[in-house]
Amino acid sequence: MSRVRIVLIYQSLLGIYGDRGNALVLAKRLEWRGIDHELVIVEPGQVIPADAHVYLLGGGEDMAQISAVKAIRADGNLFRGVDAGAVVFAVCAGYQICGTSFTVGDHEEVIDGLGLLDVTTRRGPQRAVGEILTSWSRPDGPVSLITGFENHGGFTTLGPDAAPLAHVEIGVGNAGDGTEGAVQGRVIGTYPHGPVLARNPELADHVLSLALGRDLEPLPSGEIDRLRSERITHVRSGRR
Ligand code: GLN
Repeated sequence: MSRVRIVLIYQSLLGIYGDRGNALVLAKRLEWRGIDHELVIVEPGQVIPADAHVYLLGGGEDMAQISAVKAIRADGNLFRGVDAGAVVFAVCAGYQICGTSFTVGDHEEVIDGLGLLDVTTRRGPQRAVGEILTSWSRPDGPVSLITGFENHGGFTTLGPDAAPLAHVEIGVGNAGDGTEGAVQGRVIGTYPHGPVLARNPELADHVLSLALGRDLEPLPSGEIDRLRSERITHVRSGRR
């Protein structure tokens, strides 16, 4: 692979929760390892590159997410990129739009999603707001904790083709059913903001390893570990 291309889709629509930080984390972790890369930020009206290695989608407000799904479908290149083997990492509204359908807010109208994940999202009984802590069984074996914060009114149900990304210790996750996020092939959807890849470097490296098709050498993580353990102790102490 010559240059790793990360594409962050539609910050003006899916940017209000700071999930742009996920793109910066991936770029930084590649830079620290001396791996050639570029970060492309695409806005509505611009063409989404079809040849990315990683596509990132973030959280956004209800109406913005409807605009985003329509524009992504009309563009078509995200589908081409996924067909060519790209990884998709999508958070909250981004996760919901990767599913087969969703509703938003008080609108019961069902909107078609992108169909990249076998999940559906409907308005939940109450908004899920607060810190979330989950355990993620990494494909290479060990279990890692994922910390972040969630803020969503949509509750997500997985179909048979999607597997949960993680299991909830504290918080709501997909629908208060103990599962969080979804994985299907190389598409990953998840609810936590934070940005989640800043709070959880092992998840960031998992995304990069999938994209590069190889394991990555570990990076020093002292400061991040300290902040993580502070955050995990805090959320477990019940102060949400
Ligand atoms: N609008 C969606 C919901 O409330 C997504 C919110 C978000 O991205 N944080 O379910």
